[in-house]
Amino acid sequence: MKNDETLQQNAATAEAEVPAVSADDLRYMREAYRLAKKASDLGDVPIGCVIVYEGRIIARGYNRRNRDKTTLAHAEIIAIRKASKVIGDWRLEDTTMYVTLEPCQMCAGAILQARIPRLYIGCMNPKAGCAGSIINLLDMKAFNHQVDVTRGVMETECSELLTTFFKNLRVRRKEEL
Ligand SMILES: [Zn+2]
Repeated sequence: MKNDETLQQNAATAEAEVPAVSADDLRYMREAYRLAKKASDLGDVPIGCVIVYEGRIIARGYNRRNRDKTTLAHAEIIAIRKASKVIGDWRLEDTTMYVTLEPCQMCAGAILQARIPRLYIGCMNPKAGCAGSIINLLDMKAFNHQVDVTRGVMETECSELLTTFFKNLRVRRKEEL
């Protein structure tokens, strides 16, 4: 991480172990957050993802599992597919991924398979996350690839987006009863 670009987020949140991230990292996570919101507008759990290559966003994805009726439509998988098309290779070796929620086992697997070297995560997912919560598939010496992970980027915003989504969902379900 470039030191001169590093900015400590404001002092109030710094106490809660907010990672030191660059202004660019925040900009990319903000875009992932915007995509997550799009997912929830379309009725899917709000999760968004971008992949950056040479300082530019080359792929975007948001969760479309419900909309597309397939478990394969996670934000990360959609973004990986697009990034591979742009780069023209299944290897995404010099890219960085930003995702609003800790990846599941399928997406962590795809991140490894695609050789993505760096990952920034918004909030963690204690019930399903495989980048440190249940297991950390991204840091197992037995695999031939490990990922450099930064956690807690825009954590509060990403987490609140999910909380609000599920709260609204419960209200809607009650209304339908
Ligand atoms: Zn996933």
